[in-house]
Amino acid sequence: MTSIEKQITELRQLLDQYNYQYYVLDHPTVPDAEYDRLMNELIALENKHPELIRPDSPSQRIGGKPLEGFEKVEHHVPMMSLANAFSSQELRDFDRRVRQELALDTVDYVCELKIDGLAVSLRYQEGLFQQGATRGDGSIGEDISQNLRTIRSLPLSIDEANTIEVRGEAFMPKRSFIHLNKAREEQGLELFANPRNAAAGSLRQLDPKIAAERQLDIFLYAVGEWEAGTIETHSERLLYLSELGFKINREWEKCQGIDQVIQYVEKWVEKRNDLPYDIDGIVVKVDRLEYHEILKTTAKSPRWAIAYKFPAEEAVTKLIDVILSVGRTGVVTPTALLEPVQVAGTTVQRASLHNEDYIMEKDIRLNDTVVIKKAGDIIPEVVRVIPEQRNKTVERFKMPDHCPSCGTELVRLEGEVALRCMNPNCPAQLKEGLIHFASRNAMNIDGLGEKLIEQLYNHQLVHRVTDLYQLNREELLALERMGTKSVDNLLRAIEASKSNSLERLLFGLGIRFVGVTAAKTLATYFGEIEKIQQASYEELITVDEIGEKMANSIVRYFATDEVNLMIGKLKELGVNTSYLGPKPTAENINSLFQDKTIVLTGKLKQLTRNEAKEKIESLGGKVTGSVSKKTDLLIAGEDAGSKLTKAEQLGIEIWNEQQFIEEIE
Ligand SMILES: [Zn+2]
Repeated sequence: MTSIEKQITELRQLLDQYNYQYYVLDHPTVPDAEYDRLMNELIALENKHPELIRPDSPSQRIGGKPLEGFEKVEHHVPMMSLANAFSSQELRDFDRRVRQELALDTVDYVCELKIDGLAVSLRYQEGLFQQGATRGDGSIGEDISQNLRTIRSLPLSIDEANTIEVRGEAFMPKRSFIHLNKAREEQGLELFANPRNAAAGSLRQLDPKIAAERQLDIFLYAVGEWEAGTIETHSERLLYLSELGFKINREWEKCQGIDQVIQYVEKWVEKRNDLPYDIDGIVVKVDRLEYHEILKTTAKSPRWAIAYKFPAEEAVTKLIDVILSVGRTGVVTPTALLEPVQVAGTTVQRASLHNEDYIMEKDIRLNDTVVIKKAGDIIPEVVRVIPEQRNKTVERFKMPDHCPSCGTELVRLEGEVALRCMNPNCPAQLKEGLIHFASRNAMNIDGLGEKLIEQLYNHQLVHRVTDLYQLNREELLALERMGTKSVDNLLRAIEASKSNSLERLLFGLGIRFVGVTAAKTLATYFGEIEKIQQASYEELITVDEIGEKMANSIVRYFATDEVNLMIGKLKELGVNTSYLGPKPTAENINSLFQDKTIVLTGKLKQLTRNEAKEKIESLGGKVTGSVSKKTDLLIAGEDAGSKLTKAEQLGIEIWNEQQFIEEIE
């Protein structure tokens, strides 16, 4: 093993270990920054030595190209669904049937939480993750491997040489769900009704980048096909899966007899809302695997397991008022204020009304008696009204014409369901913008949360992000609840944020459609904020992963004087505006292609267009589609046409394919 190979292997092992501790054990051992640093180091090394990249390298979770569609996958062992029980009586009936068939007095069961997600199957061959599929109709599912790979708790390699197919539930944790819907609300996009829909929607994306941003998770709980199975009970199987590095849900319990099962169920009916993810019931399985053989399966479901389903969580109450809030991008969202009511163990006083269309469609009016539901156990929503109990004189609810924060007339942009305030100086939007700027994935300013921003704003200390960098100690100390220590910590955190790499600032600016991943892509590609400020639509869309909508939005954003002044001011105040991560081209910084804009035309014989493009990019050059004054070099294959003519007219350097090959070698 060369020293580079050794270095790469060590980095991978370390990253795998940190990843396992963080995502599988929920027990992080190093700060995120350290993980990022090691990952960047690994990526830089792999970029220099692409021949050493392995499919199970932690750098390979994202990076698959968007698909045209999903391939079909046949399940060698069918993925069955379980029969349901809705009461403890039905659980007792199930137990009686099992005991009769097995001629036993009492049976051991394993109880597990029924995660509200999407059932998937993962196939490993010779220890490597090969394929992941949806359940589909049970015998044929769809290949969603690329999206599943992006789930950080899913091991890309395991210590099991035999082919094994593991089954589990991919899901969206509540935190990711809230985060996702908040972002969608800001963008005027339709919200996901619950984490399950959001998880399913994410796994059905053709572009794995989207799934990666959605922060899904996975619990494994079963084995389908397996060449070598010497395990005798389901509980041992769970332990074995855990040993292999899979994330299993740790709330499972072995129960002796049905009474213990019912106790387990009752416990979780109480506690279900305390979990950081949604569950919709309890799965009960006979523990001994040999009994599974005896009990067999019906056409639809196994006789050795049953799913207890929780009752629906709805309640009836009165809608007292509709309150409106304005988000970072000006979207106005209505929320129902309710007479307090108990739903699934918690008191609910507010429920989502989503948007104007939703209110119209359900015909929700003030003082209506409404049915609310804890959708996905997170944000309750008004699902319907009971019109029989309505006072006939109540008029339909109308969204206001003017912004509740600044009074500007609201508009509805084409193709959107949301109403927006377009005033760039709207206080509500400015506050939300500051909250976003300081947030964890953006500038990550510790201690600068919603409440403090509200306070700073109301005391006229901070209106714009530039104001943050001009705060002084005395004015902060004059604020309520701000002691010496918290002021110093805050100032230190603000100071530290100045040296963030460009992608954090870019994301923090809150340019529409520019998420964490896109910000990173832009920062790596352009390196400096000036280059992004000056980039044309054409330049932007030549960047991988930057689509038309995003390119348009970026150009529009940087077209205003206000924005450019703000960025100049940030720079003046010492905020870094360069990308500080590793350049994929570190080795070739002085290469011929560094920072050159190159156009490929005509037929290449020794390389495909894509190979040539990748080569140029790996040497620090940029490949664009059309010849302009900004083009540095044209590489012309056979039968080159108008681009060649144009390059000749503009006096641009022209190479043939052979010259290009010689140079890159
Ligand atoms: Zn406004």
